[in-house]
Amino acid sequence: MKYPRLSAIVQDLLARSAQRDSIELAVGELILEESQLYKEWTDLTSSTFLADIKLNIRAVPAEQQCMWCFFVYRPAGGGTTCPQCGSVGAKILHGEEFYLEEH
Ligand SMILES: [Zn+2]
Repeated sequence: MKYPRLSAIVQDLLARSAQRDSIELAVGELILEESQLYKEWTDLTSSTFLADIKLNIRAVPAEQQCMWCFFVYRPAGGGTTCPQCGSVGAKILHGEEFYLEEH
């Protein structure tokens, strides 16, 4: 499983037996692989009432901060090079999220 946290979210939804038409997952773009996520969702929910609920995925844009000049930027193509100083040392601020959006 690529998304172990999905299983916990499904368990939680089942426990709450929440009546809703759809749910929305916020997933960081660095770890987002939509087809895989939909497949795991289907596997986990196929024999439950959640199978009738539409899964929406919201991609959270990646954002990194350079550890040298502290410039905050959106990494391009999986690279980590700072566009301001060229350093490759960066801290990930956003892009690895995985949580249920509560409305
Ligand atoms: Zn920098």
